[in-house]
Amino acid sequence: MTTTQTQAGQEVEFIRAMEQKALENQPLTWDEAVELINLDTTHIFDLIASANRVRRHYKGDEISICSIINAKSGHCPEDCAFCAQSSSASAGAPEFDLVEADKIVEGARAGMANGARKFGVVTSGYGFANKGSKKTLDKVADHIGRLSQQCEVHRCASLGIIDEAAAMKLKAAGLEEYHHNLETARSFFPNVCTTHDYEEDVATVRAVKAAGMRVCCGGIFGLGESREQRVEMAFTLRELDVDSIPINFLNPIKGTRMENQPPEPPLELLKIIAVYRMILPTKDIKIAGGREKNLRDLQSMVFAAGANSTMVGNYLTTCGRPAEEDLKMISDLGLSVKGK
Ligand code: SF4
Repeated sequence: MTTTQTQAGQEVEFIRAMEQKALENQPLTWDEAVELINLDTTHIFDLIASANRVRRHYKGDEISICSIINAKSGHCPEDCAFCAQSSSASAGAPEFDLVEADKIVEGARAGMANGARKFGVVTSGYGFANKGSKKTLDKVADHIGRLSQQCEVHRCASLGIIDEAAAMKLKAAGLEEYHHNLETARSFFPNVCTTHDYEEDVATVRAVKAAGMRVCCGGIFGLGESREQRVEMAFTLRELDVDSIPINFLNPIKGTRMENQPPEPPLELLKIIAVYRMILPTKDIKIAGGREKNLRDLQSMVFAAGANSTMVGNYLTTCGRPAEEDLKMISDLGLSVKGK
């Protein structure tokens, strides 16, 4: 046996040992997680096979589907480098104030017709803690109330930074889950956003948990962060004990600070999903924006790589592919769509 073969055998053994730890819900150490994310592409399919077994063990073969509505767009005072809705971007994103409740109910029904059982109301802006507007929060809470009366859908919202009082108000109105991304690792965040502090995002997650709602919290990859910084965010999410982790891939939009960011190879992105499944084995891992553009023909592999959830329909400022193509992809893979 050559040295290369021996080394390859050791790496496969290492991946299987990490799979075993994940199956037993034993936390991976920092060094183990970094070694996994630094595996070269020769071993990506061994890693995917392991992540697939871990996904099946905890999540079965059901895929949870979400859809969203862009309920208030543009004019955002924050300066997130990837976002077309930031007022510091010149991306020409749509600009409108909070839509009426009817439009939200209509959006939820359209999402359900596409197979989604979870529906997210998403607004641009800083949010509702400290410098945010309480008046808009009241209006959003009314809209959530209408949604809970008129639609049998799992209700989620992404309204920016909130405190526990705002979270309690939204929960009382019928909200079941709150989405708030950390976006990236703490150590990379200053490269992405300078208008608020990472700790405000962390505090939002803690406030939502304290209010007793599910938390959907992840980030966006391909911003120039290192592999170690990808692990760093996963460890922060593990420490925060979030319920669902949305994984977005950068779709560089002209007029944003990230417009010239080079794309990551699709296999590198599948590796992120697989490593997240190993670090966060029991959690929901959801593939969100940028899937079509970045993974192209490899997008059906996201479930084998460890994801158990995805978004259908359009994203905030970019278009997804038709929902029927995603539903077909899920059934072709022998998977089924999860109910509420
Ligand atoms: S990601 Fe959210 S907070 Fe950041 S600029 Fe875009 S809309 Fe504003």
